[in-house]
Amino acid sequence: MNIRERILIVEDEANISGFMATVLNANGYETMTARTGSEAITTITSHCPDLILLDLGLPDMDGGGILTFVREWSACPIIVISARSHERDKVAALDAGADDYIVKPFGTSELLARIRTAIRHTRTTLPNDDIAQSGQFRAQGLVIDYDKHQVLVNGENAHLTQNEYKLVSLLGKYAGRVLTYDFIIRQLWGPKAKTDNQILRVNMANTRRKIEENPAQPRYIFTEIGVGCRMIDPD
Ligand code: CA
Repeated sequence: MNIRERILIVEDEANISGFMATVLNANGYETMTARTGSEAITTITSHCPDLILLDLGLPDMDGGGILTFVREWSACPIIVISARSHERDKVAALDAGADDYIVKPFGTSELLARIRTAIRHTRTTLPNDDIAQSGQFRAQGLVIDYDKHQVLVNGENAHLTQNEYKLVSLLGKYAGRVLTYDFIIRQLWGPKAKTDNQILRVNMANTRRKIEENPAQPRYIFTEIGVGCRMIDPD
């Protein structure tokens, strides 16, 4: 499976942003750009990029605020790219959840190498990441068809709603790992939905009714009491 990673470039200087986009596109990445902090937050919550390149000096807010915001609900890799070269700036960014820090001016091979490393790192922590984006997830009669946006149980379409499908495909993406309810809510409905557990409870109950033979004795989605839930490992 060859998936093009989507990289969000958060940078207010058009020439730097354009240059990075050209380099990344030439190297097989898809790119999106944001020139302000608020544009960045809108793009991050609506598109969930695979990696974020983050300038700290933005016109409307400090990039550090974006770091904190993203880290509240997502493990998306973030590389800070900044003219600030003091050790204390790097430490602050890394402490706030940045995966790496590049000082401007930087070389394109360095940028590409660090992007590859950051993406490889997410790959190793999320071994099923590729399955989630296309192809199929299969486990004991359950099939998530990511291309058709369909879930089948023993060959029968489970007729999930869009929210139910999103829930199952997220769990399939992280199969075998326990996801907290907070994480699921934020991944599916964005950070603003964070206090609303009701949507998740309803969707979880309906999903289980549709895919589990006996929702009280689940075969596919297990509840880890007090923590969250997890999808069975794939076949
Ligand atoms: Ca700037």
